[in-house]
Amino acid sequence: MTLEAETKAVVAQFDYTNEDVNKAVKEFIRQMGEGLEKEGTSLSQIPTYVTGVPKGTEKGLYMAVDLGGTNFRVCSINLNGDTTFNLTFSKVAIPRELMVAKSAKELFAFLAKQIELFLKEHHGDQFEKHVRRRMTVTSPEGFKDEEVFRLGFTFSFPVQQIGINKGKLIRWTKGFDIPDAVGKDVCALLQQEIDILHLPVKVAALVNDTVGTLMARSYTSPGKTGTVLGAIFGTGTNGAYVEKLANIKKPVTGEFDKSTGLMVVNTEWGSFDNQLNVLPNTKWDIELDKETPNPGIQMYEKRVSGMFLGEIVRLVIVDLLKKPEVSLFKDENSSTNDWKSTTSIAPNSGVFTQWGLDTSVMSVAAADTTPELVALRQALEEQLHIYSPSLDDAQTFKAIAAAVGRRAARLSAVAIAAIVLQSGTLTDPAYDGEEIDIGVDGSLVEHYPYFRDMIYEALGQIEGIGAEGAKRIRIGIAKDGSGVGAALIALVAADMEKRTSGADYIGELRDTAKNSPSTPADEVAANDA
Ligand code: ADP
Ligand code: MG
Repeated sequence: MTLEAETKAVVAQFDYTNEDVNKAVKEFIRQMGEGLEKEGTSLSQIPTYVTGVPKGTEKGLYMAVDLGGTNFRVCSINLNGDTTFNLTFSKVAIPRELMVAKSAKELFAFLAKQIELFLKEHHGDQFEKHVRRRMTVTSPEGFKDEEVFRLGFTFSFPVQQIGINKGKLIRWTKGFDIPDAVGKDVCALLQQEIDILHLPVKVAALVNDTVGTLMARSYTSPGKTGTVLGAIFGTGTNGAYVEKLANIKKPVTGEFDKSTGLMVVNTEWGSFDNQLNVLPNTKWDIELDKETPNPGIQMYEKRVSGMFLGEIVRLVIVDLLKKPEVSLFKDENSSTNDWKSTTSIAPNSGVFTQWGLDTSVMSVAAADTTPELVALRQALEEQLHIYSPSLDDAQTFKAIAAAVGRRAARLSAVAIAAIVLQSGTLTDPAYDGEEIDIGVDGSLVEHYPYFRDMIYEALGQIEGIGAEGAKRIRIGIAKDGSGVGAALIALVAADMEKRTSGADYIGELRDTAKNSPSTPADEVAANDA
């Protein structure tokens, strides 16, 4: 086969037709329902204890911290109450040795220390005032609840959430390994260390980044109705949406505000259709899955997100390079290369190693519409060490990358459509004429050219949505979602605390302090009472 014919044959295997999309939407809705009923399903549908989304009128100063894989971010967010905010932040790299510390205490003491440094640097006044009060105030009424910062904790590791500020670590990922933390409540671990330093901070909420995105978007994007979905298309993919409490059939234990009749659900949709009822499955998808440490799991994510798309393209290219009759990245002699040279691939090219082809090269390919594909050919040289690729080679690369990217966008539309349909907002009179707002974050959706356009194109083809419905769906980027979102959830938690527990936060604080072995009860009494 010629290169052109071979390319066409490959591209065809990544076709994901309108019929496929519609079938997958139905299956997605079915698996969502299953996850709302019981545990152990492909979509985990984790209740988040967040019972509403913000309106943009929320006000106040909150703190947020974000423990990702590499950095620890501390920020304070002033919500101005008019859909705007001011954000101050600091970022430190987590020392490698703490990622594998002997005890959880070492890591969490470090985190608390960073919070202290941040408070001293950026909120010195409030911090000093609090310390003075702790030393001098003699009546319990003098120690004001309002002077305690509420903090939202974004923790991007698998957690079984059991309350708005309670969640047990299921397992570490991303190079962390501190065995004694597994099974413990990560909020309590952080609060203990904060209390030892006597910081005026309460860990008020535990936050997943999808929920943060949903909250941040709802706050900043005006509209009569709130945002219905927050989604990440970055290294991985996941989404959190607003569900009717009545639809959550499996038990939701612990306290939460039932008055809204709603709860945000973290779908963990990366594992949609692990059983492959409707997901496409080319030979390259199969190969990719086999190479991963978790075969058979996160099957939707492995076809959609940034970590995997470049790898799929790489596996296709490796396959084509093996075929002697296909002349990809090789020339008989310089006459067959429009640059009048011959192509060579360096032995250290990323093409030959797992994860060696970054998804960002696909973005370069999609963006390059010049007749000679100069930008793409330059990227192939610089990033992949493929020297003097011909125009034919570059066209093949572009076509394959586009096919993989397009399939990913159409699969993304499946999740979005399923959640819009499940929400019933398109036909809900309360949303009459209103836009259905969706917040997204992550490098893929932010930087891959036309990713959102391709999502819209697919949405228009879905039964129950169609061209008219697609026009009403507004997909907008929510930058800094984790900080702003965590602050907003801390606010929700503070409101809830007032309603459900009569605002006896100080009593609660004192009880915790008394029970804490590292802070003698009489010392607490001397300071606080
Ligand atoms: P995280 O998921 O860790 O929060 P990001 O949202 O930045 O981080 O996503 C990182 C992922 O996005 C990586 O898999 C990377 O390959 C991919 N990526 C980075 N830049 C681009 C780009 N310009 N186009 C497409 N994908 C990109
Ligand atoms: Mg992210």
